[in-house]
Amino acid sequence: MDDKYKTRLAQMVECDEGSYHFYYSVADNACFQLSGKVFPELNGDPLKYFAESGAVDESSLSALAVFSGQIKDGIKKGTDKNSLAVDISVKLPDSAGFALCHLYALFLRDEQGKITDIHYDLRPYSQLEIFNRDVLKMFSSDKNPKLYSARCKKVIDDNPDKEIAFIQFDVERFKLINETYGVEVGDELLQFINDTLALICTEEQPFCRLTADVFMIVTTFENKAYLLKFITKIENMLSGYKGMKYRFVFGVCIVEDRTLHTRAHGDNASLARQLIKGNALQNINFFSGEMKSTLKKKKSIEDDMQKALANGEFTMYLQPKYSISTGRIIGAEALARWLHPTKGMVSPADFIPVFEENGFIIKLDTFIWDKACKYIRSWLDNGIKPVPVSVNISREYVHSFDVTAMLLSLVEKHKIPLSMLELEITESLDSVGVQDVVKKMKDAGFKMLMDDFGSGYSSLNMLKNTPFDVLKIDKSFLDEFMESTRGRKIIEHTIMMSRDIGLDIIAEGVENVEQALFLSHCGCDAAQGFYYSKPIPADDFARKLVEVNR
Ligand code: C2E
Ligand code: CA
Ligand code: CA
Repeated sequence: MDDKYKTRLAQMVECDEGSYHFYYSVADNACFQLSGKVFPELNGDPLKYFAESGAVDESSLSALAVFSGQIKDGIKKGTDKNSLAVDISVKLPDSAGFALCHLYALFLRDEQGKITDIHYDLRPYSQLEIFNRDVLKMFSSDKNPKLYSARCKKVIDDNPDKEIAFIQFDVERFKLINETYGVEVGDELLQFINDTLALICTEEQPFCRLTADVFMIVTTFENKAYLLKFITKIENMLSGYKGMKYRFVFGVCIVEDRTLHTRAHGDNASLARQLIKGNALQNINFFSGEMKSTLKKKKSIEDDMQKALANGEFTMYLQPKYSISTGRIIGAEALARWLHPTKGMVSPADFIPVFEENGFIIKLDTFIWDKACKYIRSWLDNGIKPVPVSVNISREYVHSFDVTAMLLSLVEKHKIPLSMLELEITESLDSVGVQDVVKKMKDAGFKMLMDDFGSGYSSLNMLKNTPFDVLKIDKSFLDEFMESTRGRKIIEHTIMMSRDIGLDIIAEGVENVEQALFLSHCGCDAAQGFYYSKPIPADDFARKLVEVNR
């Protein structure tokens, strides 16, 4: 080692009694303890030893892992930083509990600038420092939008020749994390995100937690590929905390008009982010001018929805399900329709995602379930032989609201056979599973249909232990795979295999006779789609039922 460094290290050791020093030689993969008597002499990466020693509090392990990863990256790929630091909770030799410590890594380099050695300094914060730190935190940009806004503005002003992006992101369905794993784990996750961002972002990339689970980062960038790489890096480093499954959605606003208030760029990023909700295939969205009109549409849906329910603007349509071989009606799916006084018929594709996001979907769904039961009752009362009606269950509320109890009470209220009400729910891998909920419904006696099978995330693997009774093949799966010989084989084998493991099949979105014949040939006899009938008002359905099943 260079004498210059030796002197410097010696000085640091001497002047700083309360802290512990480690010196790591990259070439020899060896570590020496320079002061303090906490840990024995050791070889290898001190951070690895440290993480495994039990001296680091569990809540700090992920931050330490991120820190460690950055150091490894710096050694391998180089870095322009001279030091890195992280705050972690550590059990020190003379104290009973964990103490908040500052772990600091100073890089020593060779002539080419490659990191050759690292000097680590682990120092417990004093009570006063912890107090100051907490105070500072309260007044830091995290809690102070004005200050944050000023920092963002500085980035814009300091970089007139560079492109600038406002990146806003949140944890999709964060509510579900709280409900599934508990609020404490939810808080921990948010803290982890905050801590990790502190490690990822430089001084020139101000970040901030805006509200519960919404974060913002402002950064300069060279080109879009670089920006996407930066976002992917954030995503990778923030994912998988404690093995949990969650997804981030990012809205990005690239600054065009530099004279606008930073809030305007932030709002645009926020809009881009909010418009992703419910799209399983996309999690990064760039702001564009048209989004404003989409937002307007969403706002007007939200303004009108409560009144719409009270005014009876929502109705239930039924779409018949047919037996391909006999041509008889074997069931129906209940679908919500909104007949708006001025806008006319609003498509569920527009309002369902909005309701799922703002929670109103519970009200609409219970309304539809009630209607479905009511109609089944009326068929029984009028001597019409009923067929089962399936209703849609949204995944949004299944963890927070006892759907099973609600449905049972409706069945009881209308005195209909349980077998006449079937439940459709989508199962997908992109979020917290619904298997336990499905099992509960099935145990209560309901027939369970897996909606939208083959539309994206659902997989064959999922079928292994599935509690579902029926697979509902999605229109997109049918359309796409019908096109090629290979695709048709896949449909055929999916059907065969599902039947083999005791699952029933129904295909939806059947639009022509070729599809119907092909499905029938593959062993799928149940179909729903425009070829047979569009969704129709419930009274029309009752007439059709009598006529077709005569
Ligand atoms: P979904 O559950 O997959 O419902 C099937 C959708 O496919 C319906 O659209 C139906 O009209 C449409 N469809 C049926 N056959 C064909 C066909 O042959 N060709 C084409 N192109 N489309 C066909 P709809 O009624 O617009 O509903 C859209 C989605 O909105 C539904 O998809 C469902 O996810 C949701 N939804 C509708 N009503 C409700 C409800 O009461 N509660 C909940 N939670 N979601 C609902
Ligand atoms: Ca459905
Ligand atoms: Ca479907």
